[in-house]
Amino acid sequence: MTHSPSLADIAAKLEAYDPQALPASEVLKLPPHDNSAMDGYAFHGSALNKAQALSLKVVGTALAGKAWQGQVQEGECVKIMTGAIMPQGLNTVVPQELCKMSAENEIEIPAGLLQVGDNRRLCGEDIMQGKAALHKGALITPAAAGLLASLGVPRVSVVRRLRVAYFSTGDEILSLGESPREGAVYDSNRYTVHGMLQSLGCEMVDMGVVKDDPLLLEQAFNQAAEQADAIITSGGVSVGEADFTKAMMKKLGDVVFWKIAMRPGRPMAVGRIQKDNRSAILFGLPGNPVAVMVTFLAFVKPALLKMMGSSASPEPMMRAKTLEVLRKKPGRTEYQRGLVSRNANGELEVVTTGNQGSGVLSSMVQANALIVLSHQQGTAQLGDWVDVLML
Ligand code: AMP
Ligand code: MG
Repeated sequence: MTHSPSLADIAAKLEAYDPQALPASEVLKLPPHDNSAMDGYAFHGSALNKAQALSLKVVGTALAGKAWQGQVQEGECVKIMTGAIMPQGLNTVVPQELCKMSAENEIEIPAGLLQVGDNRRLCGEDIMQGKAALHKGALITPAAAGLLASLGVPRVSVVRRLRVAYFSTGDEILSLGESPREGAVYDSNRYTVHGMLQSLGCEMVDMGVVKDDPLLLEQAFNQAAEQADAIITSGGVSVGEADFTKAMMKKLGDVVFWKIAMRPGRPMAVGRIQKDNRSAILFGLPGNPVAVMVTFLAFVKPALLKMMGSSASPEPMMRAKTLEVLRKKPGRTEYQRGLVSRNANGELEVVTTGNQGSGVLSSMVQANALIVLSHQQGTAQLGDWVDVLML
């Protein structure tokens, strides 16, 4: 992709998208013919008798990719391999291991093992002709790619990958490779953001670290808005003396909302940056490393997926019994880092990873879930069921 359409272009494309207009596939039903699900013998199921074994003469062989063309008479069967087309008129397959050779070219099927239609895959049982294989907004997952291929579809229209520019802010932030100095910390946010964007399949523009300097910030925002659909920054959105991100958003576009009743992640700013006739959505994440990851997962990820045209529903929350008292005040949503496991009764249990400071990134490494304590909820007592979002 050489040009970079605006969000309005993407939205227009989504509206205009019509699955009916896609080129017709080569294969209209899946599977395209009745075929065997097992290696065994194909026969007329009507010959089965509950009380009596069935003896059949083997009159031919059907291979996958090489159908058997003859006609089968009463008392006959055809040796058949998995995936081979069912010989005309036959509807049931006895797996090889369920029958015995009773004489040369003769098998015996014990009574009571099979029903009519067993081990036969019906034409169109996966996708019927005229039914949608994928709906608008479906993610091309490995399974979806395989399904398209099995329908003989070599090409589909997709929404292009979202281009996301991201940078960290702060005078104290060092890039990897720089020598440590007093009061400085290495940038971790660019790496967590990179990994999370990568897992969403975004195109990424890494803009490095920008100092707490309004001029440099303005330059960086303009440069990002010129080339990206979305911008993700970290740091500088609080009310400190060197926090310029939000003011810059106001100057170059607008702030849609700021300050969220959540922890970690309260100072987060979302808005638009305008540059010439383009505009990019800006997610101004807090600086603290855990807050960055949590706000990304809670807000940025669903927003980016939506911008990419995805109609996937969010991952379901699970419920786990807390093995700790989880202190909390009503009036904000809290995301604690948890370790979920299954106890001897088969129930999910959760403990926290310990120190829940919003700068303690090792808690995200240890956690396999976020414990989500809802807005209204107060302290969760020992043994209470709490929501967990598996990571
Ligand atoms: P701020 O929101 O800019 O006030 O930053 C809050 C805290 O997060 C401060 O302790 C910063 O040093 C820290 N911080 C900000 N950005 C980063 C980053 N990119 N990597 C690691 N820590 C950061
Ligand atoms: Mg800062």
